[in-house]
Amino acid sequence: MKGKLLVIGFGPGSEEHITKRARTALQESDMIIGYKTYVDLIEGLLNGQEIISTGMTEEVSRAQEAVRQAELGKKVAVISSGDAGVYGMAGLVYEVLVEKGWKQDTGVEVEVIPGISAINSCASLLGAPVMHDACTISLSDHLTPWSLIEQRIEAAAQADFVIALYNPMSGRRTRQIVEAQRILLKYRSPETPVGLVKSAYRDRQSITRTTLEDMMNHEIGMLTTVLIGNSSTFYYDDLMITPRGYQRKYTLSQKEQPLKPHQRLKKEAEPWALEQVTNTSSRAIADEALQLILGENTKQTEYIQQPIQSIFEVSVSPGVANKKFTPKQMMTLAEIVGEDGSMEYTQDHHIKLQVPTTNPDQVVAELEKVGFLLAPVGDVLTLKACDFCEGEKKDSIPYAESLQARLGGMELPKEMKIGFNGCGMACFGAVREDIGIVFRKGAFDLFLGGKTIGRNAHSGQIVAEGISPDEIVELVDRIVQEYKEKGHPNERFHKFFKRVKNVCGFEFQDVSPSLKIELAPCGD
Ligand code: SAH
Repeated sequence: MKGKLLVIGFGPGSEEHITKRARTALQESDMIIGYKTYVDLIEGLLNGQEIISTGMTEEVSRAQEAVRQAELGKKVAVISSGDAGVYGMAGLVYEVLVEKGWKQDTGVEVEVIPGISAINSCASLLGAPVMHDACTISLSDHLTPWSLIEQRIEAAAQADFVIALYNPMSGRRTRQIVEAQRILLKYRSPETPVGLVKSAYRDRQSITRTTLEDMMNHEIGMLTTVLIGNSSTFYYDDLMITPRGYQRKYTLSQKEQPLKPHQRLKKEAEPWALEQVTNTSSRAIADEALQLILGENTKQTEYIQQPIQSIFEVSVSPGVANKKFTPKQMMTLAEIVGEDGSMEYTQDHHIKLQVPTTNPDQVVAELEKVGFLLAPVGDVLTLKACDFCEGEKKDSIPYAESLQARLGGMELPKEMKIGFNGCGMACFGAVREDIGIVFRKGAFDLFLGGKTIGRNAHSGQIVAEGISPDEIVELVDRIVQEYKEKGHPNERFHKFFKRVKNVCGFEFQDVSPSLKIELAPCGD
């Protein structure tokens, strides 16, 4: 009878996280060979197998013994924690076999059974820190020269990999992790999230959330995996999260805003893609990379944060009531948008900007300096006011400004527009917006649920006339809050009003035109 080597990764340590194949493989073997602590972890799954357990450093003799026993005809399970192919026994078993001239066809059979490696088990306990390109680096310099390990840390840090440090520290090896931290700090912010997971899915599990700067103030040991975030990793509610990509889009209200599906793959949305990088700029990137490496010996490269370009989206207008741009504002727009950005005039009296930048805060500061009113883009509240007869009918302007300050840019289930007109002429069409406010005879008329688009577009229902100026801002605020809380995602305000029937005490009445009309979705 020919023997077999079953090289089994049993995962982090709990029985739930062992694969089914690993379990059956343990049970079909005659003999288990492993490090004593690991044998103890899986003992509950055995059914009378012979056990050979040795100390941790005796890996080579374990592998040799396993091969010897298999050649004698036994089915031998060699166990590793995590995955046997990640700093585990799989490579070593093959090395012993290769040494003996073993061949797949003629020699003992080998099956390597995959397991959940520490990078995955520890990541799951921290949140989702891996997500993007990641690497594992073992800090053990018992079998690997420190100079090589150092180089790998340097390269990984520079290339913004998420890094899982295995074997970070032991009783005698304490300096390696300090050195690793020092190298990482050259390229990454001190606030970079760092997760320390000890004994994942084992009895003594402990999880520490710290930062690159602070990590050494916590216990790190032989059973710890250190997970270093990349430059976009963040903490949210105690979870360590790395976004799925660098394809970032900022608006004022949201830091990361995925593009709508139909926009996502457009060329303009991906200025960083290979196709979009012109020859000159890819050369520049290569030169810059080279400079980083070559410059290393001559001048100390200090803390390089990867400059990650994002498309910053924001809409600007000259003001709530003011509709006039100044030449200075127009020049600032041209400068900021430049050749690579875009500027688009929107239905709601704004100019929407898309600006590729590594520094959205600076863009905001420059726009604000020339007096622009800034608003985020997306499912947010926009106030559309009239020009108050070029500012002559100014009594109600403060209320419009106060609504803008309180509600402008608020995130909502769907975009919402408040139309605000300074006299009963309502020539800017406030009554056709989601919420219409018309100032007349020293008080306000309120319209709710206009349907602003579509072939069956219609004005809102007039729900109140003569609302006192002291009440209008509070009242509209309450209406918007109710919609924010109870509206379904993507539900426009008129649909919401129709569904809930009553908003802030105002009863819904169907004011849509009764004629039968075929609905025409976009493009039809
Ligand atoms: N083959 C294993 C790695 C063995 S190297 C695997 O794939 O996971 C040993 C290192 O693995 C430890 O120093 C630690 O960094 C990491 N490690 C293994 N099991 C772990 C666990 N349950 N929790 C945290 N780290 C673990």
